[in-house]
Amino acid sequence: MTLTRGTVVIDREACKGCDLCIDACPPRVLEMTTTTVNALGHRFPLLVAPGCTGCKACSQICPDFCFQVYKYDTPREIEDPR
Ligand code: SF4
Ligand code: SF4
Repeated sequence: MTLTRGTVVIDREACKGCDLCIDACPPRVLEMTTTTVNALGHRFPLLVAPGCTGCKACSQICPDFCFQVYKYDTPREIEDPR
């Protein structure tokens, strides 16, 4: 189980596929799609694991404002499916 303090909603259609959010995420819970692309033809990030801290690093680095970050009132223990 992984302590999870927040979550993100990603506007995949606004993404330009720059990858900046992937390395910016301290717990590394974001991964780019490998084969799926948006309507503009860009790969985009997915939240692939529990452990988001709600730190907003992804939303701060994203040039295209793709992230909405939500912090849980109470941290949750969530099973990691990986
Ligand atoms: S809010 Fe922080 S921990 Fe959560 S996905 Fe964004 S960078 Fe990662
Ligand atoms: S930083 Fe923004 S534009 Fe770049 S890959 Fe991540 S979501 Fe897409």
